[in-house]
Amino acid sequence: LRSLQKLDQEIAEARARVSAFDPILEQVAEPAAALEKETESVRTRLKEMKVDQRRLELSAEEKQGRLKRLQERLNGVKNLREEAAVRVELDIVRRALETDEQEIMSLMDQVRRSEEQLRELDERRAEAVQEVEPRRLELVREQTEARSTLEGLEERRKEYTSQVGDKELRIYESFRAGGRAVVVAVLTDDGACGFCFSMVPLQRQSEVRVGRELIRCEACGVILAPPEGGANGGGG
Ligand SMILES: [Zn+2]
Repeated sequence: LRSLQKLDQEIAEARARVSAFDPILEQVAEPAAALEKETESVRTRLKEMKVDQRRLELSAEEKQGRLKRLQERLNGVKNLREEAAVRVELDIVRRALETDEQEIMSLMDQVRRSEEQLRELDERRAEAVQEVEPRRLELVREQTEARSTLEGLEERRKEYTSQVGDKELRIYESFRAGGRAVVVAVLTDDGACGFCFSMVPLQRQSEVRVGRELIRCEACGVILAPPEGGANGGGG
């Protein structure tokens, strides 16, 4: 179980390493993404302007039709008063048409400039992408590596858990589910829990050392593991 705990710690670290690449990758792609966003808004504006332009063109066409009809009427007037009235209308329609045409010209100008801007943005974005591409590929490669390390650890964990007893594994997993980082702790040389350092009764100590049963610390509940290589008198 202690090896399992160690493995789980390694898995957690490997997982953190894999996800640590995400914000870096995002940061690397940031300049190009900003340009992409700008391109998108210019493109939207361009589309709106083209719709406006089309609408104005239709309106101008309609006015030209009206002008033509008014011209024809002018040829067939019967008196001066009728002629004056038609001329007034002609004048109004002509002026409205001029306004439309001016707006169309100015829109066409803006459309041209927006299209230029789009081309420029495209170039800058391509440059920005190209500039960070080696770095991005490197990061992706490293992340892939970290991911395969993680998968290897998870594979090892699977093998491990198949060797651990069901009961032990259940206790271990329920501890982990409770969010505890330390599930297994070594019994210290002087017979205390390696996690909370409260003394373990002598009877339990010897049960831990025998290692046949799963013994838990009565104070903090961690699973107690026998000291490695028995009691070697190192630091007292
Ligand atoms: Zn304890």
